[in-house]
Amino acid sequence: MDLTLNSAVLDVELSGIRRFTFLVRDTPGACALTIGEPDLNTPDAVKEAAKAALDANDTHYPPGNGYPYMLQAISDFEARVHGLHYSPEEIILTIGATESLFLSLSTVLNPGDEVIIPTPAFSLYESITRLCRGVPVALPTEDNAFQIDPEALARAITPKTKAVILTSPNNPTGCIYTQETLDAVHDILKDKPIFVLCDDVYRTLVYTDGYHSFSEYQDMRDRIIVIQSFSKPYAMTGWRLGYCLADAPIRDRMQIFHQYSVVSAPSFVQPACVTALQTDTSGVVEIFRRRRDYVYRRLVEMGLSVQKPEGAFYMFIDIRPFGMDSLAFCEKMLREGLVGLIPGVYFGTEGYMRLSYCYSDEDLKEGLDRIQRFIGTLR
Ligand code: PLP
Repeated sequence: MDLTLNSAVLDVELSGIRRFTFLVRDTPGACALTIGEPDLNTPDAVKEAAKAALDANDTHYPPGNGYPYMLQAISDFEARVHGLHYSPEEIILTIGATESLFLSLSTVLNPGDEVIIPTPAFSLYESITRLCRGVPVALPTEDNAFQIDPEALARAITPKTKAVILTSPNNPTGCIYTQETLDAVHDILKDKPIFVLCDDVYRTLVYTDGYHSFSEYQDMRDRIIVIQSFSKPYAMTGWRLGYCLADAPIRDRMQIFHQYSVVSAPSFVQPACVTALQTDTSGVVEIFRRRRDYVYRRLVEMGLSVQKPEGAFYMFIDIRPFGMDSLAFCEKMLREGLVGLIPGVYFGTEGYMRLSYCYSDEDLKEGLDRIQRFIGTLR
């Protein structure tokens, strides 16, 4: 019997980041600086809101895109906090930002369409593009301080280019795009039939005043999709909640994929979303800013080259001077130094490794001490 599976599924592997994370977890005595989620807990008020909804039997099918009160809360939040104006009819509450990314790419891509992904990048973009039978096109940024080089972007565009994915702050570098970069990208894209997916899931975790999102170019509103998540700012990764904002005609088609795949996000978590949006996250930002400063200082003192991140909770460390590929380096460091970081190759960029500072001060100190000892053995 010839049981041929969908070739798109056969061509995509399970996440290398997850595989390496499990390898670190299963290495006795290893200190992990791998994980991309806050080590904090969901705020109590958010949990209480979900518990109260359960007690009130809010356990039936909700409207597909989300309860109207909850969509209104997102609409108000985006207008008040980010200056973005999307009506409740232009929002879908999704199963994490991951589903929003899936809906976006499934809605805009036809087979063979190209998606430009500035690298290093969150590996999900490449995998989802392939699952949607699109073609990922990497746009390396490491030689340009992780900013997009406008000329390289212009060269990467072909008649098949359908979308560009912009992530700011970025996973894995923590860099944010400068106004100059955003303006240059806008100049190139403004008259082209190309969608821009703004993955802004880390925009609450920014440590500088100069943050701007590409979503501000509302002259391109018909081609912009904003991806958001409750995971990172409110320590809600396990709740699997996110949302997307898109011009009504696009959002109307995105809901087709949403309806036929998940129907809706769960009912009783939606009051919790509203409470989360009212949460003051400034304390969380301060915690991560302090950790960033500590980790950055330690790495620089070790003589490692790293760009100081302006957002998120990652550092992308240059390991090219050690003359090993990133997987070999990280495996050796795990085996011999008992400290785990994620190889840069899993973000599409060789010669780097990603450190996450979603760890306690003690764990960070221990992990950095181990990195220091390990690189001492190589020098
Ligand atoms: N986008 C980026 C840049 C991420 O780093 C992540 C998770 O690490 C996601 C999207 C997915 O987030 P969610 O947990 O909301 O699916």
